[in-house]
Amino acid sequence: MMMNSVVLELLNAQMNKEFYSWYLYLSVSTYFNSQDLEGFEQWTNTQAQEELMHGMKIYNYLLERKGAVEFRQIEKPPLIWDSPIAAVQAIYEHERSLSVTIHEILKVAREHADYSAEVFLHWFITEQLEEEVMADRVLQKLKMVGDNSGAMLMLDSQITKIVATGAAKVNQNA
Ligand code: MG
Repeated sequence: MMMNSVVLELLNAQMNKEFYSWYLYLSVSTYFNSQDLEGFEQWTNTQAQEELMHGMKIYNYLLERKGAVEFRQIEKPPLIWDSPIAAVQAIYEHERSLSVTIHEILKVAREHADYSAEVFLHWFITEQLEEEVMADRVLQKLKMVGDNSGAMLMLDSQITKIVATGAAKVNQNA
């Protein structure tokens, strides 16, 4: 049950990173609120809550494994973006970086024959792919919209519908 200190350190760092994701999405959501883009606001607000849940998932796992939980300072996210594209680009890049660190933890867990951590991380690997796919889809659509405000309003209401039906999940099993 005892965790290797390297795996423990990486999981604590990932927990902090997930809590930062909560902050980042919430900040982006606040920005979309200021832009009167309710669909984008709802999407990122829902996502913020998911990120908090991811951090808690790691927290609970550390408790189960009797690993020392270490709360760290959560970085301040940017509060404003130049455009919706810039905000979603920031989200996409952050999701990519979360995937990279999850993959690194899995690699280290394998090196230390921590099969429990390996199984635990599988869920995150599936989840990360979904979140990257969703952020990328929105980003590509924003690029198509460009400066067309009519198209932007249509995209915003399309996202409202996606959030309402819970269809933002690409993989319903997650
Ligand atoms: Mg996450």
